[in-house]
Amino acid sequence: MDNNHCCACGIGECMGHWFFKTADKMVVCSNCLLKIQTVLGKAFKMTLTDKEEKAFAKSHTSDYFIENVKGIESITDLKDGLSFVVNYEKKTILCNCRKQGNPLAGNAVHRFDQIIKYENGQNTYEVQKGNAGHPIMRAIVGNAIAGPAGAVVGAMTRKDTRRTETRQGEYYINLYFQEDDGSVSIASKLFGQDGVNQNASMEYAKFEAFIKKVFTVEEEPNDAAPAPSNPIPAADEIKKFKELLDMGAITQEEYDAKKKQLLGL
Ligand SMILES: [Zn+2]
Repeated sequence: MDNNHCCACGIGECMGHWFFKTADKMVVCSNCLLKIQTVLGKAFKMTLTDKEEKAFAKSHTSDYFIENVKGIESITDLKDGLSFVVNYEKKTILCNCRKQGNPLAGNAVHRFDQIIKYENGQNTYEVQKGNAGHPIMRAIVGNAIAGPAGAVVGAMTRKDTRRTETRQGEYYINLYFQEDDGSVSIASKLFGQDGVNQNASMEYAKFEAFIKKVFTVEEEPNDAAPAPSNPIPAADEIKKFKELLDMGAITQEEYDAKKKQLLGL
């Protein structure tokens, strides 16, 4: 342990994290400070250089951090830096949240029992393909049909080939929390906004598995009560209906309705 590595997790200062000085002149990283927030049950302010974090680090010794970050799991997206931090002992989760209807987001700590809904899956969007044909051209050619140019008609008449195709968009994860005042907060994360490639789907799968574990832990103790409908299989169901849609077995309307129903919207 030295002053170039976090006293609690051992990560080096060159790893892109912010570092803060502890009371006994060691250093602690910003990720470990995130973890501590799940112990406190409240989030510091969003900005990493925040005085609150600095002051907190300075008023606690390295022993405090070593003791308190134990067993707390976190996952961080290196691209946008957004984290989910889960404290299984305290049953609290820290993530970037916004109030429903408010675009502004910031870190917040919630209890597991405040989680009311989880959605995950892949967005789809529609694109217009084909072209509208050449009705004017057709009219002209049609007028000329009495002449010797009859054979041209077929070649010049272009059919209206407009159609709507459904494309796969980015992956999403939405976690809904019920605040104690009754309002709803949402933690949203998208993967593959600049192209759904293998990286995006791997990153999505990683986060999905991480959050899924929270539900597994949460549902264990209530063995007497009937298991609440697990929100996660919705994505599998939607996938099935998407296949039916692609096969042409159901219409877009039927698919949209089913998807809405499955997501509980
Ligand atoms: Zn650390």
